[in-house]
Amino acid sequence: MIKVENMTKQFNSLKAVDDVSLEIKKGEIVCLIGPSGSGKSTVLRCIHGLEKPEKGAVYLNDQLLDPKEEHYRELRNKMGFVFQHFNLFPNMTVLENLTLAPIQVMKKSKEEAKEIACQYLKRVGLLDKKDEYPNKLSGGQKQRVAIARSLCMNPEIMLFDEPTSALDPEMVIEVLEVMQELAKEGMTMVVVTHEMGFARTVADRVIFLEDGKIIEENSSKAFFSQP
Ligand code: ADP
Ligand code: ADP
Repeated sequence: MIKVENMTKQFNSLKAVDDVSLEIKKGEIVCLIGPSGSGKSTVLRCIHGLEKPEKGAVYLNDQLLDPKEEHYRELRNKMGFVFQHFNLFPNMTVLENLTLAPIQVMKKSKEEAKEIACQYLKRVGLLDKKDEYPNKLSGGQKQRVAIARSLCMNPEIMLFDEPTSALDPEMVIEVLEVMQELAKEGMTMVVVTHEMGFARTVADRVIFLEDGKIIEENSSKAFFSQP
């Protein structure tokens, strides 16, 4: 579903991502792990187009993701992105956060967008918060809202950038449960995480980065059974 070929991203003289190639198959759950600063987030951001790599190519369903191409936006919208710091719009209610893109980007009617939004809020257990503003929610609730917001765009793949790293420990589990549920339903997922329990039990495959390079790539089972 996703193919990354020879991707390199530099920040000044620092090679944050150094000639990385990888593939994600439909339905796969892949965790990107490795030390802080190893380039995990940058790989994910380059896949989504939040950063522009100097070298390399990203394909989604065999189609090149290139801002110069006519169907670029449409392709990009097939990828959901969940940020470490939620990135909800603070001046909008939960419901408004969820309906914004379906209305503006997918040209849904207000009614239809609301219906979709409520359906996903229900799935993450937060329908009763639909009229709250984000600052009234806990970190775990904000992240579940952010996941629901992504799902409203009907993505084919979800990219998660350290979705639980900004959360208090007691809220990590409620977010991981939502992600685990998604995985079970067959969503294709790439997850940058320090949660080794999640990587071990939910991921099909683990990619280990160091200094911008892939050091090891293995099934989660093989990766975690090493001495
Ligand atoms: P990880 O996700 O593995 O912690 P990152 O991809 O966030 O690593 O960062 C990789 C390296 O690139 C780090 O050294 C980081 O400081 C640097 N970096 C990331 N984003 C930027 C940026 N926008 N400007 C400058 N350096 C950056
Ligand atoms: P997110 O919620 O997206 O993970 P973060 O709070 O982790 O956001 O910050 C990531 C942002 O900071 C990115 O835009 C990244 O490019 C930038 N960044 C990361 N490391 C550095 C760095 N060393 N210098 C400058 N910008 C950086």
